[in-house]
Amino acid sequence: AKDPVRVLVTGAAGQIGYALVPMIARGVMLGSDQPVILHMLDIPPAAEALNGVKMELVDAAFPLLKGVVATTDVVEACTGVNIAVMVGGFPRKEGMERKDVMSKNVSIYKSQASALESHAAPNCKVLVVANPANTNALILKEFAPSIPAKNITCLTRLDHNRALGQISERLNVQVSDIKNVIIWGNHSSTQYPDVSHATVKTSSGEKSARELVSDDEWLKGEFITTVQQRGAAIIKARKLSSALSAASSACDHIRDWVLGTPEGTWVSMGVYSDGSYNVPAGLIYSFPVACKDGEWTIVQGLSIDEFSRKKLDATAEELTEEKALAYSCLS
Ligand code: NDP
Repeated sequence: AKDPVRVLVTGAAGQIGYALVPMIARGVMLGSDQPVILHMLDIPPAAEALNGVKMELVDAAFPLLKGVVATTDVVEACTGVNIAVMVGGFPRKEGMERKDVMSKNVSIYKSQASALESHAAPNCKVLVVANPANTNALILKEFAPSIPAKNITCLTRLDHNRALGQISERLNVQVSDIKNVIIWGNHSSTQYPDVSHATVKTSSGEKSARELVSDDEWLKGEFITTVQQRGAAIIKARKLSSALSAASSACDHIRDWVLGTPEGTWVSMGVYSDGSYNVPAGLIYSFPVACKDGEWTIVQGLSIDEFSRKKLDATAEELTEEKALAYSCLS
């Protein structure tokens, strides 16, 4: 039998945490033959709720779940973890300035970076979900210099999956027959959902999604805004944010990273930019990536037309500003 993998979830008593931990315990993230030990961290005001989640995990009697650590101590939470899913963060409250939210999150991610750096297992893989996800991930990277940059990522897979969902509805095809959409840039309203290279499996072979949709106006307009604003639409409908789909996509992100993507298929991940596609190096930016043997690589050589170029640059610009704002909060 395989040794258990230790998976940390921060903010585990929150909405996304509540949806995510049972998925992990059922093998959705790492496979149905991979035992797991869950480490759940939350802040002291949420300690009782966190204990309630732990009680439910016990009650669910998941065969793959070999242990649960539920704690408000960041060192205890981070010790020995192989995978860290960072969901905890300071929420944007009404009337708060962007800088105030940034400042709170920068200090959270700075201290959690140090705890992970000192106590996580070697080669720990980190996924940041809490917003501003790209910039929180960047701060985590900066304050955990001994964790390789390639191990620190942020979630744009939900946006990627939302793009697949929209194309599936539009073309009335199965989501599993569509591949290679791309989310470029920031997990924010400047993200660029791009179907220029996406394909659809049809009874007469693989076809370009763009040609099948054959409505560039929709692809360049409503499609993009629908994906960008889907989170707000869910809040409006549910009066709560999108926790189920966020949790599910976090599992997709880690599963593909660890177990690999099928040949010829890519997914979107926020990763440390090396300057590919003329995106400034040193940002955490969402790119198309292929994964193999536990490592991602940015898919190279895709053509970028003028429309796309502008979108890639606009979201990079926002990330550059966020980075500057984050640094100004540090000093
Ligand atoms: P959620 O579980 O709904 O969301 C957690 C974080 O994920 C938020 O930053 C949220 O951003 C972000 N997020 C990213 N993608 C999505 C998406 N698609 N849909 C919704 N959220 C998304 O928040 P809760 O408030 O329920 O839970 C947060 C937990 O974190 C609480 O248990 C709290 O105690 C803990 N916490 C921990 C802190 C710490 O570690 N120091 C500080 C503060 C809270 P957005 O805000 O933009 O919705």
